[in-house]
Amino acid sequence: MRGCLTVGIDVGGTKTAAVLLADAGQVVARITEPTDRSGSPQEIAEFTEGLVDHLLREASCSRDLLKAVGIGLPGLITPGRIFRDSIILPAWRNVDFHSLLQPRLGVPLVVDNDTTMAALGHMATIPEHQRPSCLVCLTLGTGVGGAILLDGIPLRGIDGTAGQVGHTVVDPAGRRCDCGSLGCLNAYASGTAITERFLELQAEDPVPVSTTLVAERVGLPQAISQGDPLARRALDEAVNALIVALSGIVNVLNPEIVVLGGGVASIGKEFIQSIQSRISERSFPAPARRVRVHQAAHGPMTGAIGAGVTATELVLRADSDTL
Ligand SMILES: [Zn+2]
Repeated sequence: MRGCLTVGIDVGGTKTAAVLLADAGQVVARITEPTDRSGSPQEIAEFTEGLVDHLLREASCSRDLLKAVGIGLPGLITPGRIFRDSIILPAWRNVDFHSLLQPRLGVPLVVDNDTTMAALGHMATIPEHQRPSCLVCLTLGTGVGGAILLDGIPLRGIDGTAGQVGHTVVDPAGRRCDCGSLGCLNAYASGTAITERFLELQAEDPVPVSTTLVAERVGLPQAISQGDPLARRALDEAVNALIVALSGIVNVLNPEIVVLGGGVASIGKEFIQSIQSRISERSFPAPARRVRVHQAAHGPMTGAIGAGVTATELVLRADSDTL
C-alpha cells in the first residue's frame, strides 16, 4: 500500500487543504488549515512543507516514503510554470514557486493552478472509457476559478490565461470585478460576492424579518438552507450570472461535463440541479442536452486530491521512462 506516497495540496483563498495519497489513490490522511493570504512565497513554502510533515506524521510514515508532491495555487501559472499573478495572493508576482518549495521537499514537485488541479481530481474519478473529451471546471470560492480539460489535458493558452471563465462578462455595466473590469462572473458567483450581496440586501431591507436576523449570525450557507429570502435572492442572482456565462461556454466548447467546486457548490444538490435545468435557457439545444453539471467529486478536497493524483502520475511517468 505504501510503495508510492504522494501529497496533494490546494492553497485556497481562505483555507489550504492537503491529502496524503497511497499508490492506488486512496486518502491516507488529510488536513485543512487557514491560508495566510498576506504570506510571502517563502512563508507559504515553509507552511506547505509543514503540512507535508504533518500528514506524514499522522500516517506514521517517514519522509523517505514520500515520492512526489503536487500543489495547486490560486493564480495564473505560465506555460513555464511561473506563478504570474493573482487576485487572491496580491503580493505574488512572477514567482518561481517550484524553485522555492522543491529543494525543501527533496522529491519531484508539480505546481499548477488550483482549479486545474480540481478539474484533474474530478476527472480521475471517472472510469477511463467514460472520460469526456471536454470538461470545464469552475471553483466558486473566494474567487471564481476556471479550467478546461481537452482530452484530459489542461488548455493553457500561450500566456497561461486560458480557461479563466470567472472573468467572462455577464453584465457589461455591472459590478466592478477585482480584475478591474466590469460585470465579470467573479463579481457575482464567488462566495465572497454572494456574501457581500446578501449583506447589501440585508442593509437595504426596510423591515428586517426574523429569519434574516438569525441568518446574520449563522452565515450564508445556513441562511440559504433555512430558506432566508434575502440569502435565496443573493444565490439566485449568482445562478443567473452562472447561466449566462456557462451558456456561452457550452455553445463555444460543447463540453460533456461542467464541474462546479468550491464552497458555493457545496451548498447542496438543489444548486447543481438548478444550473443543470436552466442551462438550456440560453444555449443551443444540442450542447445543452449533452452537457452534465456535476458537483466536484471530492467536495472541498477535490483540488488537493487532484494535486496528489498529478504527483502520482509524475512518479509513474518517471518510472516508465526508466524502464
Ligand atoms: Zn474580472
